[in-house]
Amino acid sequence: MRVGVPKEIKNHEYRVGMTPMGVRELTEQGHQVQVEQNAGAAVGFSDADYEQAGAVIVDDPRAVFTWADLIVKVKEPQPDECSWLSADQVLFTYLHLAADRQLTDALLASGCTAIGYETVEDQHGGLPLLAPMSEVAGRMAVQAGAHCLEKAQGGRGVLLGGVPGVSPGRVMIIGGGVVGENAARIALGMGAQVCLLDKSIARLRQLDERFNGELITLYSTQENIEQQLAQADLVIGAVLLPGAAAPKLVTRGMLGLMRPGAVLVDVAIDQGGCFETSRPTTHADPVFEVDGIIHYCVANMPGAVARTATLALTNATLPYIEALAQHEWRRALQDIPGFIHGLNIHSGRVACAGVAAAFDMPF
Ligand code: NAD
Repeated sequence: MRVGVPKEIKNHEYRVGMTPMGVRELTEQGHQVQVEQNAGAAVGFSDADYEQAGAVIVDDPRAVFTWADLIVKVKEPQPDECSWLSADQVLFTYLHLAADRQLTDALLASGCTAIGYETVEDQHGGLPLLAPMSEVAGRMAVQAGAHCLEKAQGGRGVLLGGVPGVSPGRVMIIGGGVVGENAARIALGMGAQVCLLDKSIARLRQLDERFNGELITLYSTQENIEQQLAQADLVIGAVLLPGAAAPKLVTRGMLGLMRPGAVLVDVAIDQGGCFETSRPTTHADPVFEVDGIIHYCVANMPGAVARTATLALTNATLPYIEALAQHEWRRALQDIPGFIHGLNIHSGRVACAGVAAAFDMPF
């Protein structure tokens, strides 16, 4: 099969859809791979690395798009890219169509088969191609929060690990899924005192066992949230209600319970945020202050660690790419449990219930 890897053109997107390692796997299986010039340069993969792995480097993005049977990307295609797609092509990338009518219409018009990373499931109903980015964001949340706690950043001047004779900082994590667990791991590793709240007792039980009791777990109620807020140096928002906006668990009034200079990191900002005072920020200008509390609300946290994020994402996508390259796409979607849920668009029709519902389209 002919596999194309374009350079990402979305603003501040440095990741790439396939590493030289992935290209080598494909070319050794007999597939042809074209990679756009400089596609991986921002994350340390040179054109020479790709060539050595068996790819052909092409300087024209349109040529990569029109040549390939399977196009592997990171972000949703931009308008130009959509206009280059055609009916016999398969596109495999993050799509997030339910939030983007214009993109949905463009992909429908192209006639292509579009498979979205974010809706692929595993055999347990988990989201294996979203999880790596949640792992990255969860781990980064503590790093970002620790930085914001420094005096020069407006924080309360607390070192999360403490030192001998001085108490460690207190980290409160709301939501104990993939983001929350990874945040807890890093915060505990830094020596902080960590408390995690979730609505699922089964999940709290699992985390309690996993962290050998080092993690304080609490059932997520208004009362417990208020009590913990009053003591926390760093609060990480990591809740998710699948398919819905994040619930506002910390209101503006509740900021008054907190210590001045404490930090809120709202990882759930991509779903609207779980703090009432959150608004999306960028890596260029990541924080703002409300009532003396520092807010960090970057909507694409993994973008800051694009090399790690690329490696994490492409490790997860490679088996799916191999299956798509090996077999006709319908068979590939059947062969891997849960892969079928990734199908969003086919032949001018929406093939994903969530997207159809979002735009009141036939499904
Ligand atoms: P997940 O489904 O693995 O975990 C969410 C957890 O929230 C679940 O354990 C659930 O029980 C819990 N929860 C739901 N309601 C709650 C409540 N009222 N109180 C406490 N806990 C509650 O999701 P995840 O992969 O950990 O993702 C969490 C959020 O982070 C999502 O919104 C995701 O989109 C976002 N995210 C953001 C970035 C970023 O760059 N900002 C990157 C990755 C993920």
